[in-house]
Amino acid sequence: MGHRVVPPCGQFDIVSNLRVTELIDFNNAMWDADALAQYFDTNTAVAILTMPLSSQWPTDKLYWFLNKSGVFSMKSGYWLALLGHNTEADSFESVEIEKLWRLVWNVLDLPKLCQFLWRLCKGSLASKAVLYNRYCVLSSTCDRCGNDNETVFHSLYDCPKAMIIWEKHAAHSLLVDAPRESFPEFFSWIHGHTTNEEFASICATLWAAWFYRHKQVFEGDDGDPVKLATNFNRLVTKYNVFSSKIFRAKDDEDSD
Ligand SMILES: [Zn+2]
Repeated sequence: MGHRVVPPCGQFDIVSNLRVTELIDFNNAMWDADALAQYFDTNTAVAILTMPLSSQWPTDKLYWFLNKSGVFSMKSGYWLALLGHNTEADSFESVEIEKLWRLVWNVLDLPKLCQFLWRLCKGSLASKAVLYNRYCVLSSTCDRCGNDNETVFHSLYDCPKAMIIWEKHAAHSLLVDAPRESFPEFFSWIHGHTTNEEFASICATLWAAWFYRHKQVFEGDDGDPVKLATNFNRLVTKYNVFSSKIFRAKDDEDSD
């Protein structure tokens, strides 16, 4: 499940009987963001959200990912400690992390989309290149087009299978100029060059591209990706309208 150790938060005594299984949304194969927010402080919840979950639910077992045998050794532990944390967001210097946090979580209201974007920024989405670098697979080749390095950018944008979606998107020509050093920088740049609606649409389409990639790789589904992206865009738009009405109603109640 990744190698980051999550330290206990200030209210650890309250959650000492909590089991990891209670923090997972098994229906959607992802962390339960609401449960995390209930039991942990923000930093701890974010640290947990960045840990990738397997979509195949294998039986739990102890495994030290740096050794082929799966058994921990001091040598590999020391090597890992020397590496430290090296995620995209950690190495992002030109925009403050707090600003990025607000951008991802506040511009869009849909929690699952925000969670996807945050994982994107933290470099924890499991593309083949990410899995290869973690010694989980033998090659980083894209399973869909045969490119020898399926980075997350490749899977979401550069792959011909993803490009089918973007070629139909109004922001296609804009994205060509976006910086690609990291997703935090990418999102910052995009946000600075679009309206909130356009920004939301690009985020929704990235989410759809990742979903489509999963459908193709794990289910062999070759459905219509443009239709899928359109549906994701509709979902985000509807949710934002719904959410703004609810919160406006609540604001009105509070001011009465
Ligand atoms: Zn590809």
